[in-house]
Amino acid sequence: MRCSAVLISAVTFAGLAFGQTPDPIKPLVDRLDLERYKATIKGLTQFGDRRQGTERNRAANDWIETQLKSYGCGNTERLTYDYQVPTPATGGAGRGSGGRGPGRAGVRTKGVRGPTGVNNDPMKQRDEKLRALNTPPSVSGERQEVYCTKIGTKHPEEMYVVSAHMDGIGWGEAANDDASGTAIVLELARILNSPEVETERSVRFILWNNEESGTNGALAYVNQRKDLQGKEDPAGSGKYPEPKWLGVIQHDMMLFDHGMPGKDGKPGKDQRVEADVNIEFQANSKMAAESAALAWQVHAANEKYATEYPANVGPHMSNTDSARFQDFVASISLRENERMLHIGTGWDPHWHQPTDLFVNFTDADFKLGLNAAQSTLGAVAQLAGARVKP
Ligand SMILES: [Zn+2]
Repeated sequence: MRCSAVLISAVTFAGLAFGQTPDPIKPLVDRLDLERYKATIKGLTQFGDRRQGTERNRAANDWIETQLKSYGCGNTERLTYDYQVPTPATGGAGRGSGGRGPGRAGVRTKGVRGPTGVNNDPMKQRDEKLRALNTPPSVSGERQEVYCTKIGTKHPEEMYVVSAHMDGIGWGEAANDDASGTAIVLELARILNSPEVETERSVRFILWNNEESGTNGALAYVNQRKDLQGKEDPAGSGKYPEPKWLGVIQHDMMLFDHGMPGKDGKPGKDQRVEADVNIEFQANSKMAAESAALAWQVHAANEKYATEYPANVGPHMSNTDSARFQDFVASISLRENERMLHIGTGWDPHWHQPTDLFVNFTDADFKLGLNAAQSTLGAVAQLAGARVKP
C-alpha cells in the first residue's frame, strides 16, 4: 500500500513537472458561492417587480451600478433611450408573454401544457407591502440600462458580452425572471474584476432594461452601438468605447426545472432529478453556425466545471435580449428550460406571476442558477483568456 501511494504521488509530481500546467480557470470558477448568489438575488428583490418606467426600476439600476463599482468594475456607463408605453388600444403593454423579438416562429410543442400568461391583477399579490411597491405604473419617457467593462490586456478592441435583464412584471419580485440571471452577471463581474485577475480580451457586463416590453433595451443598444464596434476613440488613445462583439451570452430564468406539468396542469414540487441548464441558439439566424459553436463551448465548460447539473444545447433561442444580436454576432441564452418548448407551455408556474418570490425557491433551485454561472464563467474565462496574475 505504502509503496504504491509513493508511486502515485511521484507520477503526479512528474506530470506537473513536465509541462502540465494547472488549470488557470478553475480557481476563478471556485470563487462562485451559493450564498453570495442567493444574497444578490435577494438584494434585487427589494425593488419588487422592477417594472420598466418606474421609480423602483430606476432605484434597482442605481443599486446595480453601486454593486458593479464595489466589485472593481468602476467604468460603469448607462445607455439612454426613449420608450413609449403602448396604450391598450394599440395593444402591447401588459399583454402576451413579453420578450417579443425575432425568431420565435416554427417551434411545434408537444405534451401536457400548463397555464401561462401575465398577471395584471394587483389583488393577486397578497403581500400588501409588495403590492404597494409594485403599484405605480410604467410611465413613457427616458429609460436607462447599466453596463461596465473588464478591459482586455492584449485585445481591448474585442469583447464578449455577459448579460441578463433587470426589469420584470407580474406583481411579484421577479426573483426568477430575471433577478436569477442578473445575479449571475453581477457575480461574474465581481470575480473577473478582482484586482488580481486579468483577461486578454474585454468582457462587458450588461443589465438590460425593457426586456419584458419586447427587448426594447437590447434593441436600443444594438441600434446605438452596432456601428461603433472596434473603433478606437479618440484616435491613438488605445481606447475602444465599443469593442468588437465576439459573442453574447444571455441569462434569463435560471432556477426552476420541475418538469412537464402533470395531468392537473401543475409541475412537480421539487427540482426534477433530470434538471439541466438549457443553452439555446437560434437556428433561423444569420449567425446560426457561430452561435451553435458558442453554445457547445459553454456546454463543454459545463462538463468541466459545473458541480451539480448538466447542460443541454437546443436551436430555439427566442424571446430574450440576445435575439436582438443573433444576426450580427454569435448569440446564445442560458435558461432553466427551453423557452418555447417548456417555459412557453407552462413548466414554470411562477413565470410573470405574483408568486415569483425569493421565498418560493429552494437551494436545489438556486443551485441550478449557480451551475449556469459556473458554465458561463468557465467558458468566458477561457474565451477571453482570463487568469489570476502570478
Ligand atoms: Zn425574462
